[in-house]
Amino acid sequence: MPPITRFAPSPNGPLHLGHAYAAVVAHDLARARGGQFLLRIEDIDATRSRADLTPEIIADLTWLGLEWDGPAMIQSDRLADYAAAGERLKAMGLLYPCHCTRAEVIAASRDNGPDGPLYPGTCRGRDVDPAGAAWRLDMTGARDMVGPLEWSDERVGPQCARPHLFGDVVLLRKEAPASYHLAATLDDAAQGVTLVTRGRDLFAATHVHRLLQALLGLPMPTWHHHDLLVEPDGRKLAKRRGSPSLADRRCAGEDGRALADDLRAGRFPAGISLGAGVEEGP
Ligand code: GLU
Repeated sequence: MPPITRFAPSPNGPLHLGHAYAAVVAHDLARARGGQFLLRIEDIDATRSRADLTPEIIADLTWLGLEWDGPAMIQSDRLADYAAAGERLKAMGLLYPCHCTRAEVIAASRDNGPDGPLYPGTCRGRDVDPAGAAWRLDMTGARDMVGPLEWSDERVGPQCARPHLFGDVVLLRKEAPASYHLAATLDDAAQGVTLVTRGRDLFAATHVHRLLQALLGLPMPTWHHHDLLVEPDGRKLAKRRGSPSLADRRCAGEDGRALADDLRAGRFPAGISLGAGVEEGP
């Protein structure tokens, strides 16, 4: 079956070269196999998301010569679906409320997970007021319910799902209608994505997504976690470290299609290469 891929940027800041690379990879994987390439705007983080950036993203992709199929999915249109999935998981007895702040989690944590200090289960089994709380997944209960799971990345092969690396992850946030994990999992299923294309920095997140698919009865796609554009110190490109945004390049009159072709051919600006993207320092 020809694959359905997607590019799912968050309009939290202007897109940069790393985003352009991710979009080109997702686009070309679909086109090379006669499949579809979809766009999704991940704009539910009200504390970081900027409405003015979505038209910029559209302009950037068009400038790169990338055409997507159908209308873009906008996460802020889908809040009812996220809430419904949250209610289902609550009815399954798998979510519990938690008011711990990030500072409290850091202070109480004894181990690190893929996203930083691991939540030590402070509120699990406690009588916590649900008003205004975040809702966490009871990871042990969830894994017991579905048993061992596997998933596959087409570059590195079959994986045993290890969602417990993340501990009791937040699925419904205090300041946003859903966590990235829940929204992205539901959206990939709703868009019919069969090949989830994204950077290697999100490889570990797939363990949680696979678990959520099993809990919610969603189909399992294949994944393609591509290398990241990295700076000489091995860290992934980020706008805050001075790489020009795509909008800057576009407005300066650069040829976007030629830039996309350079990325395809592995011709990167001086000092930029492909890599795994080492962890950010403190
Ligand atoms: N919205 C995420 C980002 O911009 C990507 C999520 C995904 O591809 O699953 O980093």
